[in-house]
Amino acid sequence: MIAILKPGVTDKQRENLCDWFRSMGLEVHVSQGQFHCIIGLIGDTSKVDISLLESLSIVESVKRISEPFKNANRKFHAQDSVIDVGGGLRIGGGHFEVIAGPCSVESEEQMVGVGRRILAAGGRLLRGGAFKPRTSPYDFQGLHGEGLGILSRAKAMTGQPIVTEIMNINDLPLFEDVDVIQVGARNMQNFDLLKELGRTRKPVLIKRGLANTLKELLMSAEYVMAGGNENVILCERGIRTFETYTRNTLDLSAIPVLHELTHLPVIADPSHGTGKASLVLPMALAAVAAGADGLMIEVHPDPEHALSDGAQSLTPDQFDDLMARVSKVREAVLS
Ligand code: PEP
Ligand code: MN
Repeated sequence: MIAILKPGVTDKQRENLCDWFRSMGLEVHVSQGQFHCIIGLIGDTSKVDISLLESLSIVESVKRISEPFKNANRKFHAQDSVIDVGGGLRIGGGHFEVIAGPCSVESEEQMVGVGRRILAAGGRLLRGGAFKPRTSPYDFQGLHGEGLGILSRAKAMTGQPIVTEIMNINDLPLFEDVDVIQVGARNMQNFDLLKELGRTRKPVLIKRGLANTLKELLMSAEYVMAGGNENVILCERGIRTFETYTRNTLDLSAIPVLHELTHLPVIADPSHGTGKASLVLPMALAAVAAGADGLMIEVHPDPEHALSDGAQSLTPDQFDDLMARVSKVREAVLS
């Protein structure tokens, strides 16, 4: 349920009302807009007498929110959320960032070398998987703790905040120096993992599951937010459809749909979304035109010899070109 207050309500009046809600056992979220204050209520709102609430002189209107996602709902929080992703960088509400790097962390030389090239092109966050969710147990599984150590050293050398995937909550202590924790598509509905990440205050990047609806993605965000961690970024990375030419089908309509439904930032990953390096550039541009708050792009110094996802990885030169064109599309859509 949300209560929209009239303009000019004093802090004391608002706090008295919030205390009354809290006395009914409700969780209260206050979102102060330019003109209106919105009070979001979570819990058993059946005890709230709507007509009594509507009759209060400071209340403009009261609405029940039918969607099961509350914290993530734009009705709760009209303005875009802006997430601080480390190194003074932010994503959302007009702040656009590109997260790039290899699929897997392979060596320090690889990460530092590619990180520098990515940064020079304007990719200010560095990614690389240390724990890899591979379809086959015989494929490269990642360097685990050693990979996280390499990411930390790369961060120290290039200054880029780092983004990497967690697969098992027991590994969380190893993620101390990680700036953005990624929950991969295969773990989007690992609810225990999401609950634990809700207890941290680190930004969590949640990728859409291979066969999950947008509402399910929002419910996953809700798991993290319900624990008190509001630092959530959503990522459209393609879903499984009957089309097999591309690795997945990048659902670009997810970007404006999610922007309608939620205040959380939405980024797109055309690398996993297409599975083919030649398709990454056009789909990255299309995602930017559709309003993405950022991109995740796989870049490898030598894609042919990558230990994972070489076919969809761009070379640093191709990434330079992508970044130049992304800037042009952003200028065009923002003007
Ligand atoms: C990745 O980002 O390397 C990854 C495994 O992504 P996804 O979970 O989207 O497949
Ligand atoms: Mn990958």
